[in-house]
Amino acid sequence: MSKPVRVRFAPSPTGPLHMGGVRTALYNYLFAKKYNGTFIIRIEDTDQTRFVPGAQEYIMDALKWSGIMPTEGPGLGGDFGPYVQSERKAMYQPYAEQLVHSDKAYYAFDTAEELEAMREQAKQMGMPNWQYNVVTRSSLKNSLTLPSSEVEKLLSEGAPYVIRMKMPRNQDVRFHDLIRGWVVVNTNNLDDKVLFKSDGMPTYHLANVVDDFTMKISHVIRGEEWLPSAPLHVMLYDAYGWEAPEFAHLPLLLRPDGNGKLSKRDGDRLGFPVFPTDWTTSEGELYSGYREKGYFKDAFINMLALLGWNPGTIQELFSLDELVEAFSLDRVSKAGAKFDPDKTRWFQQQYLRQQPMVDLVSSLDTLSEGKYTHHQLSVVCELMKERATFVSDMLIDGIYLLEKPLQWDKETISKKWKPETTGLIQDWKSIMENLQSFDASSIEEAFKNFLADRQLGTGAVLLPFRLTITGVGAGPGMFDISAFLGKEEVLERMTEGLGKISSLLHE
Ligand code: GLU
Repeated sequence: MSKPVRVRFAPSPTGPLHMGGVRTALYNYLFAKKYNGTFIIRIEDTDQTRFVPGAQEYIMDALKWSGIMPTEGPGLGGDFGPYVQSERKAMYQPYAEQLVHSDKAYYAFDTAEELEAMREQAKQMGMPNWQYNVVTRSSLKNSLTLPSSEVEKLLSEGAPYVIRMKMPRNQDVRFHDLIRGWVVVNTNNLDDKVLFKSDGMPTYHLANVVDDFTMKISHVIRGEEWLPSAPLHVMLYDAYGWEAPEFAHLPLLLRPDGNGKLSKRDGDRLGFPVFPTDWTTSEGELYSGYREKGYFKDAFINMLALLGWNPGTIQELFSLDELVEAFSLDRVSKAGAKFDPDKTRWFQQQYLRQQPMVDLVSSLDTLSEGKYTHHQLSVVCELMKERATFVSDMLIDGIYLLEKPLQWDKETISKKWKPETTGLIQDWKSIMENLQSFDASSIEEAFKNFLADRQLGTGAVLLPFRLTITGVGAGPGMFDISAFLGKEEVLERMTEGLGKISSLLHE
């Protein structure tokens, strides 16, 4: 790559960062790392009406948790600051005026009411999509239609105005997108977008282009929803005589059924988070996040990386470094990527299995507030890890390893408990009582002999045995569980369990 790679993630602080936004940040991060470039964050807050307090802090915190922090941005330093657009406010107006002077843009004085009336009138005449454009501008109140003396008068009187792009008639705007190939749009389909607003702020379009240029951005990697804005941006670069950055518009994230864009409401409605971390709205509504649900950040990032990109091999598990190594924009697909909650859980399970035992034990210790010994928690990990998705599952599902059961699975008991079962369990109990050594293989051997003597199948005794000891119908190996609990505890639980089960059966 000829120019130094400088990429930016440019969120607007209008709310929490959706996981699609994290993916955009991730691809920018991977691309920057891959080419020894710089990853920048710029906060695009020119639309002050949509500003949400706390959103910027949320975004920074979410990137930090995800492990994909930029190195330039607000609070991070860098030579191209400030990195918050409202703090750059003063620099945009001269750029906007430069375009008016070079006849690429013009002042428009129409009030919001006047424009609304035009829109309404057009609607009445069967044209619902009225636009300020190459055709309509000639009958509106702007510096192209008004005499220059009047324009000057209005400006000197401080009349409110906006600056609009003077979209040329019937020109093909062409640009190359690294994911989509050549994109061609005719200017007849584009309106005269506002570049500079009456509140003295630039619009997204102007600020975005001026900042990308002045911050020396080499590649603009952003979501597909910005593709329709790209022709205008390309024209702005042209109008200034600046070389445009390379563009890459990422595919949308779709709902699991492929039906439409994944929205912030889908998550909690369908039972999965769409945000990296919890977000509570000012009305107190909670949107859940991956972090608080107990996902490992690496699992979250691994899953996101593969939503729209593939490595071209069957490898699915990637550390962040491996992603940097494998990533390339030409393996990003054009088509929308369907979010798959089951696959997301699968990633989490894989990462849970890879966790070092010491880390898991220490997490369990924190979760259980130091109530159990290191040995107890190590065994919980060993026995439950393969069956769990989240660290907390090991404690919840394996609680019988630490505490006597308080509940028994009535449904399984009524289905599986036969008239002869109680007698069999009592006999098996007496055999265990007489066992000299109580390690897993001795118990297993005794169990096998017991079955052989009685000519019984495993299921006839093993499941009822499990139910009496753990209260539930499934779990890790019963001989491991028994050895861990110890003879005394096992016998006690069997007596209690048999009592409990018999009363459940007679309810
Ligand atoms: N501020 C835009 C957003 O909120 C950024 C678009 C871009 O990256 O150019 O997503």
